[in-house]
Amino acid sequence: MRIAVGGIHIECSTYSPTRTTLRDFQVLRGDELAGRQSFLFLRDYPHEFLPTLHARAIPGGPVARDTYEFLKADFLARLHALGPVDGVYLAMHGAMYVDGMHDAEGDWIQAARDIVGRDCLISASYDLHGNISRRVIDNLDMLSAHRTAPHIDVEDTQRRACDMLTRSLERRLRPRLVWAPIPVLLPGERTSTEDEPAKTLYASLPGIAARDGVMDASLLVGYVWADEPRATASAVLTGTDTTLLDRGAALLAQKYWEARAAFTFGVRTGSIEECIEWARQATTRPVILADSGDNPTAGGVGDRPDVLRHLLDRDVRDVLIAGIADQPATDACYQRGAGGRIDLSIGGTLGEGASPVTTTVEALFLYPTDTPRERQAVVRAGGVTLVLTARRRPFHNLAVCRRERVFPKDSVFGGHFEAKARTAGALLPSHSTINEVGKLLSDRLLGDFTDLGLRPEAFHLLVVKSGYLSPELAAIANPALMALSPGAVDQDIERLPRQRGQQPTYPFQRDFTWKPATIVSARSPHAQA
Ligand SMILES: [Zn+2]
Repeated sequence: MRIAVGGIHIECSTYSPTRTTLRDFQVLRGDELAGRQSFLFLRDYPHEFLPTLHARAIPGGPVARDTYEFLKADFLARLHALGPVDGVYLAMHGAMYVDGMHDAEGDWIQAARDIVGRDCLISASYDLHGNISRRVIDNLDMLSAHRTAPHIDVEDTQRRACDMLTRSLERRLRPRLVWAPIPVLLPGERTSTEDEPAKTLYASLPGIAARDGVMDASLLVGYVWADEPRATASAVLTGTDTTLLDRGAALLAQKYWEARAAFTFGVRTGSIEECIEWARQATTRPVILADSGDNPTAGGVGDRPDVLRHLLDRDVRDVLIAGIADQPATDACYQRGAGGRIDLSIGGTLGEGASPVTTTVEALFLYPTDTPRERQAVVRAGGVTLVLTARRRPFHNLAVCRRERVFPKDSVFGGHFEAKARTAGALLPSHSTINEVGKLLSDRLLGDFTDLGLRPEAFHLLVVKSGYLSPELAAIANPALMALSPGAVDQDIERLPRQRGQQPTYPFQRDFTWKPATIVSARSPHAQA
């Protein structure tokens, strides 16, 4: 069998003032794609996977139209050049927004379909924060979305999508998709699969997918910071028994709908002022405060200095902020050199509306690099140690890898932690909780902080630009707090403007009734006219 591989993977806040352009994407072509760690699992299949183009960027603002058109044309040319293929595997996110284009994934997938033709099978892996559309469903044969948030099943999801595809090709099956959109749209921070009710809803998916005639069951939370009509939660089932798929998707959608009011934040939340006060009163450490409105891993800008301003105004001490994206301030530190004192304007260089903080800092450490975009400066202002970065980036990796040992492959954490744990000397039973795994890994610190000579536990308060914490940070947070701070991914979602003709959607509207209605892919022989 000849199976093409490619895709585009980004999550875009339509509320972000920034634009994602070509330099923000890591673009893998041909052998570079095939040899990349995240695609090595394809070698486990007895089929020929043919790399085309895969483009990935960290979440951000809308993709500039010319960037999208350039990447799409390159992808399509490579797909076309392969000649006839039996299948296509697309590694997607699902929440891309391209300037002037609603449903960008629908555009990408339909373009792929137009090249490979009707008989070819196309399977896609999605992030559960992806948004589905009629066009996506009508052009795919199979879809599998993450079943965990935080996402610790990335490779498992990719494998599910490829297992379905290869099995269908081998057995000459023609699976189809049934989609039940759910008029509920919530942030990831209220729908973590670590907490109820998502925990129970997602735990039901393997059982549904194991039924005869069903190949995959996916439940997508959707992406709330996208002001476009397709943004909703979705139940999507793949399989060969349309009646069973239809019933299963409707039931799953109904259960999500019924649970809508029970989704709440998994940690204590408040305003920036409240969170700082709670942190000051805490007798345990490290308190980890997520500055959630400016979280770059959800599409936030990452340049807002609001929390820094509050900390300096109140002269709070023993604090680490990691970090604030500010290239001019970072470059100024490199020009001044480590040990020097310098007056800086910090923050607000990328977004609109974030006024900078002006203060004098001492440059403590400059990360050695020849790449200007990789520059990171550790500075001190008052009682605050602050990381300034040249580019937008999160700080959430603690774990590192030292000794050789094997992490149990059957563990539910295998996909996310295996590579790290293999060299970290981790050996935990497969029923370990996520906190046990995170704790074990964080005991062997390295990564985002240790690269800079920083230890999060050495501070009373660590401030990160994040929503729910990464598993590794969650494991050491004592306690975790989340500030409902302003920014492009504002967690106070009901204040988001929604201007693009959406249907009534909870929690933006609350007084409406709803019953599940399913949509069968146009590729199904059972599709409605
Ligand atoms: Zn996600």
